[in-house]
Amino acid sequence: MKFETIAIHAGDRPDAAFGAISVPIYQTSTFVFEDVGKTKGYDYSRTANPTRKVLEDTIAQLEGGKAGFAFATGMAAETTVMHLLKTGDHVISGDDVYGGTYRLFQDVMRAFGLEFTFLRLNDRERIEEAIKPNTRMLWLETPSNPLLNIVDIPMVVDIARRHKLLTVIDNTFATPYFLRPIKYGVDLVVHSTTKYLSGHCDVVGGAVVTTTDELTQRVQFLLNAMGTCASPFDCWLVLRGIETLPVRMKKHEENAIAVANFFKGHPAVKRVFYPGLDSHPGHEIAKRQMKGFGGVVSFEIKGGIEIVNTFLKRIKVFSLAESLGGVASLAEHPATMSHASMPEDYRGKVGITDELIRLSVGLENVDDLTEDLEQALERR
Ligand SMILES: *Cc1c(COP(=O)(O)O)cnc(C)c1O
Repeated sequence: MKFETIAIHAGDRPDAAFGAISVPIYQTSTFVFEDVGKTKGYDYSRTANPTRKVLEDTIAQLEGGKAGFAFATGMAAETTVMHLLKTGDHVISGDDVYGGTYRLFQDVMRAFGLEFTFLRLNDRERIEEAIKPNTRMLWLETPSNPLLNIVDIPMVVDIARRHKLLTVIDNTFATPYFLRPIKYGVDLVVHSTTKYLSGHCDVVGGAVVTTTDELTQRVQFLLNAMGTCASPFDCWLVLRGIETLPVRMKKHEENAIAVANFFKGHPAVKRVFYPGLDSHPGHEIAKRQMKGFGGVVSFEIKGGIEIVNTFLKRIKVFSLAESLGGVASLAEHPATMSHASMPEDYRGKVGITDELIRLSVGLENVDDLTEDLEQALERR
């Protein structure tokens, strides 16, 4: 089956019990045994739940992996993955990952004796130099949040394979519609399903897709042991979102390209970050490994923080809010919002300036979007 068909039909659909075309929400904590020691495949909803299972099978197939797991949030998925490691292990991570990922690594996992090196993952030699005898995992995000930097996945996987490191990619921004990392040999894919997969800003959720039986067993064990799984209703919302993922992603991209082109050469704009522009340093790599460039556009405004605040006050069609990936366009200020959990000097080092604004370009009419940006940028 092709992507669009998987998005609508994967897993146990229509429902085996009554043929419901919409996946039933099995809002139950426990399942009655048929006999002593005999179930219908489910015993307790933390361990497994039929609604969750359809979502897990769907995401696994969309990513081309072995098995999928649905979590309460993207951070619950990431926290669970980090428990594949043990005290003393070392992780190499992209330096411009999601702010919450950085906080989980630095302010939570380090206290359990994990070590981290944060690095721009664009230089083979520098990555190899960072590998230590205790390095176990390589964590990457491409396009990264909020700078939209591109990592050459085959290059990073090649290094990881030769040093027996587990590669984990956060595929939230691209979604499997634009990027299927498992094809390039990545071991684990994580998602914040809060974003494009659900697509309507009405749920928080996370997912992990595995590639081997060993990883599948281990992640299933951790999900159950740690209790980080998603609720049946939240799984249903994400499932409903995924059904329209292909059409939404195409339109998000079309609108994002128009917005990126609008910024290009605009007198009030210092810099545009969008991997679909020829001028983006990762454009060629992105074109090679992705089917599209996604719906997030970041830009730097000329003139400092007062001008940033004026812009954010003036926008009307774009809403000032964290998060991304919904049908409604959002604008946010990484330095004080999504990436406020990164220390100021670290943000400066990776290039998240005070003038940087991140847009999640939604599905409104593109003329309304560019007109809104124009009036918010106007010098009055
Ligand atoms: C939002 C986000 C997360 C965290 O997901 P939650 O669902 O908010 O917990 C992780 N990675 C990326 C790239 C994100 O955008």
